[in-house]
Amino acid sequence: MTDHPIAPGGTIGIVGSGQLGRMLSFEAHRLGYRVAVLTGGTKDTPGGRVADIEVAAGYDDDLAVQRFVDTCDVITWEFENVEVDMLEHLASRSGVPVRPGSSIIAAAQHRGRERQALMAAGVPVAAFREVTTTRQLVRAVTDLGPPVIAKRVRFGYDGRGQVRLASVDEPAARRIVEKIGDDGLIVEEVVPFDAEVSVVVARGITGEMTHHGVMENVHVNRILDTTVTPPLSVSHRVAAAAVDMATTIAEHLGLVGVLCVEMFVTGEELVVNEIAPRPHNSGHCTIEAASTSQFGQQLRAICGLPLGDGSCRPAAMVQLLGDLWNDPSGHPPGWSEAMADPGVHLHLYGKEEVRPGRKMGHMTCIDVSPDKALERALAARRRLWRRP
Ligand code: AMP
Repeated sequence: MTDHPIAPGGTIGIVGSGQLGRMLSFEAHRLGYRVAVLTGGTKDTPGGRVADIEVAAGYDDDLAVQRFVDTCDVITWEFENVEVDMLEHLASRSGVPVRPGSSIIAAAQHRGRERQALMAAGVPVAAFREVTTTRQLVRAVTDLGPPVIAKRVRFGYDGRGQVRLASVDEPAARRIVEKIGDDGLIVEEVVPFDAEVSVVVARGITGEMTHHGVMENVHVNRILDTTVTPPLSVSHRVAAAAVDMATTIAEHLGLVGVLCVEMFVTGEELVVNEIAPRPHNSGHCTIEAASTSQFGQQLRAICGLPLGDGSCRPAAMVQLLGDLWNDPSGHPPGWSEAMADPGVHLHLYGKEEVRPGRKMGHMTCIDVSPDKALERALAARRRLWRRP
């Protein structure tokens, strides 16, 4: 493994090929890199359509993974729910660095290991129990005191694989445990939060760190709906503590790349909910708000280049879900109406299959303050519903 910078002209390998891979590819091309994506199986993916090479194969297809590895100078992630061992083995045999390292990915893809890593880093998390049996589940609900949230330890995202429990008896617990299977659950207290925030931190191979400040996020049906930065409803003290926690975790994990840390704010208290060792939905506004976006920082970090200036102007992002296409008139969304405001930045992810709740794109506005930016972005989204 080399610590020399991977210069523009080299090939960035991206594991996963959704919208994050797509936006990372745009940035890589801007800097003169080539891009190979490993899709997990499907062809013609949002990332693959804009990459130089699309390897449409499963993450467990060793021949295809080897082919992917052989085209890359460095490998990074846009999707962490993959078996990391084989990829790491093949990459290390071929001398291709994997950044962030697979141990961070392994921690992030398993809520139990994630909690252990967070506690080892010394940051607060909500009270929780790890559960694999019916009896443990009943016990956890009693210990923590209902209501609680039970979360599948693996393969949960956008609130999938989660259930809120006001109480639990033996038969109900058995049904939940049977449905979840062998991997198990974590059961945690419901945090009566006032706000949800996140921090995207970048760390280079020399240990240098930077961040984009604090994003304040609102989820609807457990899917991120809006982000503003700087946050509207948290104090400077809490914002500083959030940044401090994110950098502490990045340092503790020995991150090379970017890491998003999602937190709940209750009064002046923070607890960490989740980490994602890659660019994050809540960091999309950095594309316009910062001179170096989360994707730019990821590239710089994994290529061993100096990190850029990630500080953000006041900005807001609104998510565009598949529901927007589901209009009884059959007309497409009112793109011209939305873009009547020249400060609206539209991003669509190139997904052909539209499903309710599926993330199809987002819009960002920059303004003099986060509330102004949010007002403009929300107004633009409302105009999308006005069909031509
Ligand atoms: P997650 O998949 O853990 O990111 O959860 C998705 C969303 O569900 C979060 O952004 C919160 O809005 C909500 N949520 C998850 N865990 C909790 C909790 N322990 N207490 C309250 N709300 C939660």
